[in-house]
Amino acid sequence: MNNNSVLIVEDEPRIRQFLRTALETEGFKVLEAPTVTGGLGLAGEYRPGLVVLDLGLPDADGIEFIRILRSWSDVPVLVLSARNMESDKVAALDVGADDYLAKPFGVTELLARLRALRRRREKRPTDDFAVIRFGEVVVDRANRAITRSGEVVHLTPREYHLLTVLLAQPGKILTQRQLLREVWGTGHAEDGHYIRIYIGRLRQKLETDPTHPRHLLTETGVGYRFNP
Ligand code: CA
Repeated sequence: MNNNSVLIVEDEPRIRQFLRTALETEGFKVLEAPTVTGGLGLAGEYRPGLVVLDLGLPDADGIEFIRILRSWSDVPVLVLSARNMESDKVAALDVGADDYLAKPFGVTELLARLRALRRRREKRPTDDFAVIRFGEVVVDRANRAITRSGEVVHLTPREYHLLTVLLAQPGKILTQRQLLREVWGTGHAEDGHYIRIYIGRLRQKLETDPTHPRHLLTETGVGYRFNP
């Protein structure tokens, strides 16, 4: 795989050109495709380090691109969506996109997101973190021990499970569906209120100001994100 290459799948030539210029200036090697079929071909052939994907493509939906790509690749995917609808973002994240940006977007924001995706991939935080710190909290996973400002914090097994799922993917938005599947199992896909309740409890126990959380963040209408 070429870690420094980015595949752009976008049908509007003007936006492709804009992206190419921005990414090349930043030192990325750029591959371009205007269709889902073309994009999958290039992804298979060149194994890029990142993918920037438009959802509205002429031959198929970008969601379909992610679904197929994810059957053989875990390359980070940043979705560009002109359709600024939450259902689109959620659908893209649910099938395995890593982040999204609504059009129109600024180049600074785009590059920051791509750098974050690349860092996350290099660090591979999911492998096994022993101790993680955020704010005044220390989570010692080996010993299942949590402290806040040095005081022991007691979490229920479910609260602990939800927390570790979030901590394992810092910065990544996890949809309600993904969290439910991971923590409650497949039979609870529609029980989004479980998560709201448990996130609320985690904030009470771990955030300095639970009403203005800084680490366990809500992505309105989409899901949740751990901000280290
Ligand atoms: Ca388009």
